[in-house]
Amino acid sequence: MQQQRASIVIHGIGTLVTPARVPAPIRGADLRQVVEIPGAAIAIGDDGSILASGVEADVRAAITTGEDTRFHDARGALAIPGFVDCHTHPVFAGDRAAEFELRNQGASYEEIHAAGGGIRASVAKTRAALDDGSIGPQVRKHLDWMLAAGTTTAEGKSGYALTLHHELESLRMLGAIAEDHPIRIVRTLLAAHTVPVEFDGDPDGYIDQVAIPAVREAAATGLASAADVFLERGSFDRTQAHRYLTAARDAGLAARLHGDQFSDQGGIELAIEVGARSIDHLEALEPGDDRLRTLAASDVAGVLLPLSSLFLGRPYAPGRVLADAGAIVALASDFNPGSSYGESMSVAITLACLGCKLTAAEALTAATINAAWVLGLHDRVGRLDVGYRGDVVLLDQPALAHLPYHVGTPGIQSVFVGGMLVGAPSGSHA
Ligand SMILES: [Zn+2]
Repeated sequence: MQQQRASIVIHGIGTLVTPARVPAPIRGADLRQVVEIPGAAIAIGDDGSILASGVEADVRAAITTGEDTRFHDARGALAIPGFVDCHTHPVFAGDRAAEFELRNQGASYEEIHAAGGGIRASVAKTRAALDDGSIGPQVRKHLDWMLAAGTTTAEGKSGYALTLHHELESLRMLGAIAEDHPIRIVRTLLAAHTVPVEFDGDPDGYIDQVAIPAVREAAATGLASAADVFLERGSFDRTQAHRYLTAARDAGLAARLHGDQFSDQGGIELAIEVGARSIDHLEALEPGDDRLRTLAASDVAGVLLPLSSLFLGRPYAPGRVLADAGAIVALASDFNPGSSYGESMSVAITLACLGCKLTAAEALTAATINAAWVLGLHDRVGRLDVGYRGDVVLLDQPALAHLPYHVGTPGIQSVFVGGMLVGAPSGSHA
């Protein structure tokens, strides 16, 4: 085989860690069988793909270098794949810091609402900011935060605008920002997030007149590759969610669900019935619940969102039981203004270990290749193997076990996207 010329060689890696070399999605015992290679290097070609990765001498023997090849000394760092955050809500205006404070002081939902909090406050601000064009810089800032935290691929949902025009505009604007941002963004239409004020008491009218037309339009225009629904008391019921997700599937979009966050509304059965890619949250799922085994036996991923458990003081999803039962387990931040204002996948990994009782290796697999599978990108991102995009995070840590152990400050040394060094965040040790 002809040797390929490297555009960049990342050498001096203390240990390279990448998910098990078995087909994605990874489940069962393979979840914790990560590959760990001491004394490693990664060579990336002009097209941004990994040409060779492994023991440094083998990598150097497998490639050629030229005058324009860059060499990056990892100085003994731990190398992992860039995080894939498969569940985020980055398109919103304003924040809900005041609500956070009120809630912590014991304010009721009504008091929060009266003080201008709650999701409807975000919707009003987001619509206005989409209309006057002021939302762009804020969304870009959200993506900057994710990148600085080591996320190199993220899903981004609409869902804070809730009119046909504004939902599509949310996706269009996110796509335009992503075009010149290093993070790869996969867009999801979350038109069925909540019932907006103008459809108060008429969720069916909203689904039929806004959400389903938005699904069809988003699919026809290529603005989204998936559609998501919030299946919960006070939002949308199973029949409405079924209608919306069936329309999504018929239009060629992948189906996803927010389910079992606060209560069982039949989300797991619905996810399996419509062939959804994932059901996300699952905090209301008891470890002994039979439905857990039903999910584990299916091809629907269970996406753990432990930052929202932390944020809302809620139980953690039964990640340990799901993993042991053979479920496809993925992990994400759920970055949003109301219930998880945090983009750090390393904190999500800490909480997946502390709260959901995954091992460090399982949490890494869930936050990389399995999350990539949820987004349909498992052939391109989520591993440090040949042919994958050169998305690499270098951590100032001696071993994988330190990633969850070192809470909040994972010591991100460098982030590469497609072999390009995109950040050495100065605040990572702050
Ligand atoms: Zn969410």
